[in-house]
Amino acid sequence: MFVDQTSLLLALGLAAFAISATLLITWLAARTEKFILVWAVGSCVLATAFAGFSINAVSNHYALLWISNLLLSGSFVILFSAACLFTGQDLPRTRIAVISALCAAVISMPFVLGFDALGAIMGNLVNALLLGGTAWTFWRGRAEAPLWVGGIAVLYSLTAISFIPCAIMIFLKDPLILDAPPSGWAEDLNSIAGLVGLTGIGALSLALNQARIARRHHEEANTDPLTGLMNRRAIFDRFGASQMDENTAALLFDLDHFKSINDRYGHAAGDEVLRRFAQVVSQNMPLGSSAARIGGEEFLLVVTDTDDAEALLIAEAIRSTFACEILQGAGGGFRATVSVGVSTGMGSQDTFDHVLRRADDALYGAKNSGRNRAASTAQGEGGPR
Ligand code: GH3
Ligand code: MG
Ligand code: MG
Repeated sequence: MFVDQTSLLLALGLAAFAISATLLITWLAARTEKFILVWAVGSCVLATAFAGFSINAVSNHYALLWISNLLLSGSFVILFSAACLFTGQDLPRTRIAVISALCAAVISMPFVLGFDALGAIMGNLVNALLLGGTAWTFWRGRAEAPLWVGGIAVLYSLTAISFIPCAIMIFLKDPLILDAPPSGWAEDLNSIAGLVGLTGIGALSLALNQARIARRHHEEANTDPLTGLMNRRAIFDRFGASQMDENTAALLFDLDHFKSINDRYGHAAGDEVLRRFAQVVSQNMPLGSSAARIGGEEFLLVVTDTDDAEALLIAEAIRSTFACEILQGAGGGFRATVSVGVSTGMGSQDTFDHVLRRADDALYGAKNSGRNRAASTAQGEGGPR
């Protein structure tokens, strides 16, 4: 072998330590993703385990091999829980404690009885299982970024598999007692797989985390924080440059006398009215349509695959549902209403701006005819009956 086992283990320890430090710095910079912190702790424990193994490779210590095995599988339990966090499941502490205790018991039993070879075999099998479980966890979560998360799952699987020949080689030599620290091609292969896996997983996961942060920023920049709907920028980005055909409708909503709701029931109650109206829109809009809060109490719904008559029906459904809502303010329950202007596209020459302007004209008409009604540029208006 061109590199001895001790050097490989040392390289693994240093790589794990460097990754731990990088993860810790990454976490300190944003403090959003808890899995990064858990992972940093796991990598630090991993580095300590490798340090133990590399010392043990030159001077065989019974207790050191035992402790190093415990540290290694302990670090893999932590990496497993980090993988669960990454894919959105926060494992309960008790379950982590039970898994850790089970692994520690399976590894420690043979060591307690004086069988260090059996202990090392158990350690290898436990590690293969834990890393296999981690690989499976990432594999199930690969929808987020199939190439990257799938790549992480593959690297974890390969590292998991590399522990099995180690167990087999120790078993074939003497399944109970070691005459020297475990070494040979299986151990070398395991260390190399570990080194490739560790650095590859580290790089992929950090890139993935950056992509996650970028996506979150993008979402935040396009979402109205009060209602959770799209904001003005997002809906204009989506449709601003579109040609508006006859099957696309813009529904422009403006809450009625909203200023007096604020004045009478307080700004917080006003905010609650806006949130409630956004819910009513979300619950009544056809699948595939886009809703946005484009101003203080102004909302825009763009519906595709529709026509004038259907668009007016949707507007009317939202208007009437909202009018029936009982809202809570400082002085008790109250109702609020909304006016809607509806306009559909007129063909390939029509622009989003033109359709909006016509919807705004229709809205103006609805306001002037007494509010709490839907008006369309094509078909007049509907209102409370
Ligand atoms: P109209 O029926 O003619 O539309 O009358 P209006 O009172 O709804 O219209 P006006 O434009 O006079 O008032 C809009 C009010 O919306 C004024 C502003 O204080 C309030 N507003 C804007 N943004 C928010 C917000 O985020 N929260 C709350 N609570 N109020 C807001
Ligand atoms: Mg307004
Ligand atoms: Mg208004």
